[in-house]
Amino acid sequence: MSITGGCLCGAVRYEISADPITMRVCWCKDCQRLAAGNGSANLLFKRDVVTITGALATFSKPADSGNVIDRKFCATCGTQMFGETAARPDFIVVRAGSLDDPSIFKPVANIWTSSAPNWACMSDTVPKFERQPPPPRHAPIRS
Ligand SMILES: [Zn+2]
Ligand SMILES: [Zn+2]
Repeated sequence: MSITGGCLCGAVRYEISADPITMRVCWCKDCQRLAAGNGSANLLFKRDVVTITGALATFSKPADSGNVIDRKFCATCGTQMFGETAARPDFIVVRAGSLDDPSIFKPVANIWTSSAPNWACMSDTVPKFERQPPPPRHAPIRS
């Protein structure tokens, strides 16, 4: 199988050759800024299964977790695409908004709900974590 996606203008594209390790919605304040007010829907992959083409720009900032997150976005249209951290260089976060088929996103957790706005809509069937949850198992959660 392969997962594909890209930015608003089409300059940045990616292809992913394996299933995500986990899929989560993050409600930290940084994510609300980059996700137009909502939580950001994120898929975590091993870095070596993601092939990226096109020019990215990077903004680096410490996250609530304490790790410096490199947020990567299209250098032309600004669409948020990826997150990486030197603390976990073998992994990459892909923003679900960039997926060609967003229906593959099946969140297993809402995280950093302690900073979610009071109007946030969250599924009652998806576990909520006030802060950072335990690390995911390093195995695909889809088969
Ligand atoms: Zn673009
Ligand atoms: Zn976040």
